[in-house]
Amino acid sequence: MRTLKDFDASGKRVLVRVDYNVPMKEGKVKDDTRVTASLPTLKHLLEQGASPVLLSHLGRPKGGFDKDSSLAPIAPILEGYLGKPVRFIGGDSELLPGSDAVLERVKALPQGSVVLLDNVRFEPGEEKNDPTLSQEYARLGDAFVLDAFGSAHRAHASVTGVTKFLPSYAGLLMEQEVSALKRVLENPTRPFWVVLGGAKVSDKIGVIDNLLPKVQGMVIGGAMAFTFIKAQGGEVGKSLVEDDKLDLARALLEQATHKGVKLLLPSDVIAAQKIEAGTPTKVMPADHIEAGWMGLDIGPESRKTFVEALQGARTVLWNGPMGVFETDDFAKGTLAVGQAIADLQGAFTVIGGGDSVAAAHKLGVADKFSHVSTGGGASLELLELGTLPGIEALS
Ligand code: ADP
Ligand code: MG
Repeated sequence: MRTLKDFDASGKRVLVRVDYNVPMKEGKVKDDTRVTASLPTLKHLLEQGASPVLLSHLGRPKGGFDKDSSLAPIAPILEGYLGKPVRFIGGDSELLPGSDAVLERVKALPQGSVVLLDNVRFEPGEEKNDPTLSQEYARLGDAFVLDAFGSAHRAHASVTGVTKFLPSYAGLLMEQEVSALKRVLENPTRPFWVVLGGAKVSDKIGVIDNLLPKVQGMVIGGAMAFTFIKAQGGEVGKSLVEDDKLDLARALLEQATHKGVKLLLPSDVIAAQKIEAGTPTKVMPADHIEAGWMGLDIGPESRKTFVEALQGARTVLWNGPMGVFETDDFAKGTLAVGQAIADLQGAFTVIGGGDSVAAAHKLGVADKFSHVSTGGGASLELLELGTLPGIEALS
């Protein structure tokens, strides 16, 4: 990838694709991690005397202006972090980011200004990767910087399309994310363990497939464990199972045995009849869950086994919580495993996956990881395929 090291930004207007797809509630930004993640690149460009013009998407507007998906609330937050004015141009169906009206306003600004344009998904051509729209974006700058790691798996106009019309570089966040995940994929210090969990096997099959030949061990918790347990003949009650993935689970288990990879599944679970705080719970064997009950967290014996297995690991990738961690009654497994990874000495530890990152923040252990990815879907796809459309476009 071409990076900012290859680029002298001084005096240039630089179009920067960031990922400000932040969680919103009633018009307010609930978590600004993605804004702070963009600061190193923006500060670097400003120190070089460039004028950044920022593009991002937010939510899923349906190809037209929609006030609820406007990026307007981000401008004051960014202004606070940068300590300088951020000019927002948008908030109106006439001021779409590719329009002539926006271009004129951007051109009229003095050098060194920071501009945030409105949601790229207001443009019907954005997700279609329309070359006309990409060219319109390209008029806004002398060069393009892709720093939206969380969107780098999308071949959209503001991510990959525009790179055809401007000299293009990876921003610092993009570079850091790709280097951490590639280190795990291509050059892990052994022993290398992967901890997987979360809701669905089908989301993560590609990752299991790609990583199984590279790891010494894999820990599988969360709801996805039940597809594997049922595939081995276990009784899982009304736990979440993907019945159309049972054969695949069996094949993966065989592959692990064949390759000498330790694949650990929970031996016990915390079960309940419904997902609700304060509902009665029982510890049950993971392959003998009573009818009407479901496994909602790994049990105490599994916590101990998983934590012990991870001792001595030198590289750990964590994707997916061990249970329904959003409810305290079912958060112990995620807490124990997350804490154990965070406490490893001298290990390279990475969290990918939106909910796992949220869990790590909730548990207060996120800052003890070597790398916390800002891109759930993008990190999964990179781990599965080894590259992303955004990486290819900059190479
Ligand atoms: P990530 O975003 O980290 O990749 P996923 O999106 O795959 O993780 O899965 C997270 C979701 O999985 C959480 O909302 C969590 O409540 C749910 N989950 C984990 N374990 C279970 C379980 N045993 N039963 C039902 N849902 C579960
Ligand atoms: Mg998720």
